[in-house]
Amino acid sequence: MFENLSDRLSGVFDRLTKQGALSEDDVKTALREVRVALLEADVSLSVARDFVKAIQDKATGQSVTKSVTPGQQVVKIVHDELVHVLAGDEADIGVLKVDNAPAPILMVGLQGGGKTTTTAKLAKRLKEKQGKRVLMASLDVYRPAAMEQLKVLGEQIGVDTLPIVAGQSPADIAKRAKQQATMGGYDVYMLDTAGRLSIDDTLMTEVEAVRDITKPRETLLVVDGLTGQDAVTTAENFDGRIGISGVVLTRMDGDGRGGAALSMRAVTGKPIKFVGLGEKMDALEEFHPERIAGRILGMGDIVSLVEKAQETIEAEQAEKMMKRFQKGRFNMNDMRMQLEQMQKMGGMESIMGMMPGMKKAASQIKESGFDDSVFKRQVALINSMTKIERANPQILQASRKKRIAKGAGLEVPELNQLLKMHRQMADMMKKMGKMGKGGMLKQAVK
Ligand code: GDP
Repeated sequence: MFENLSDRLSGVFDRLTKQGALSEDDVKTALREVRVALLEADVSLSVARDFVKAIQDKATGQSVTKSVTPGQQVVKIVHDELVHVLAGDEADIGVLKVDNAPAPILMVGLQGGGKTTTTAKLAKRLKEKQGKRVLMASLDVYRPAAMEQLKVLGEQIGVDTLPIVAGQSPADIAKRAKQQATMGGYDVYMLDTAGRLSIDDTLMTEVEAVRDITKPRETLLVVDGLTGQDAVTTAENFDGRIGISGVVLTRMDGDGRGGAALSMRAVTGKPIKFVGLGEKMDALEEFHPERIAGRILGMGDIVSLVEKAQETIEAEQAEKMMKRFQKGRFNMNDMRMQLEQMQKMGGMESIMGMMPGMKKAASQIKESGFDDSVFKRQVALINSMTKIERANPQILQASRKKRIAKGAGLEVPELNQLLKMHRQMADMMKKMGKMGKGGMLKQAVK
């Protein structure tokens, strides 16, 4: 799974992580290569573009954590973005809704995608892992061989199949399956619908009828992962017409390009619940975005390293800052750190929204025209100062101010505002610092 993509990306990141310092150009080149690798893996253009942009934004905004290299940090950002693209925020990966017995599961997809095989794999899984009594029914009235195939698989895994009755329509079979599942005390009944080589109206109308009769708890699209963007288009079509609850990507054991997995969620909004990894009845896995992302990058160690470093560094920084404040020091470097911290936490409105009683104040501030881009401009102004100026903002006279504002692409009044805000904050810090170790600041940092 993902070998090619994985090889390409590890090549890019190997080069990146070996370097001690990264220039903007290094990152740009790396991201260009990431984009090409994604497109070669048949990830859709818009997903690849958004992906690279998200990484670029995050990589630029991030301060470098000591004890890991910048390259390692980029790998971590890419990893997190991969997880995001793969998972969205759904927590139902690998979970099937099978409460309220008998729970109908509708299996849909094109012919040859692996629908019948996957139906049996899932039935086996429900039986063995969840102790469910499952009934499987083939609705493929066009191919008697397909009905026979499901029966054989059922015997193999010890799961009942609905007796085959010649001449019935899919809707009739669905009714019969529902009835037998209810009478026979089954927990789940699975409906393996007929596939076509391509999507056509008759197929969809048929599946719609079955859906309306059974009201499935899950409608799973089974689609060949090797078909890349076609798999995503198929999912869009089925979802538009039938409404699907999730996707099973098959043939992920091949050395396919794997792009379908990356685009699926972003394009269709539907979760990939399982992946098929072979022809055997056990070759089905839950789709875990974390694991898949790790596999794609082949760099799980680096990811956890950076996570750990970030945790400790943040605590370290907070401690260091507290000591400085206690001594009454608060220069532009401290201020920049505070501003960046605020942005990281989701901006002014979100921070204030979290504090009891501050929601109203937050919306008032917003109404007055303040928005979080102010923080960004302020950071730009601080970045435009020299090291000496940042440590001693009191030395800023007219000519320095002009140069700093120009460097940030802003006007002097905005810099004056920043300086005023800095003085006020410094005063406050001094007061808080004087309150000593048991004081407010210690509480706040904790
Ligand atoms: P259907 O027409 O959609 O019902 O497809 P089938 O279930 O009959 O599968 C078509 C072929 O693909 C069969 O030979 C299966 O064994 C094979 N197949 C299904 N899933 C997988 C998978 O995850 N990996 C591999 N390698 N083969 C699979």
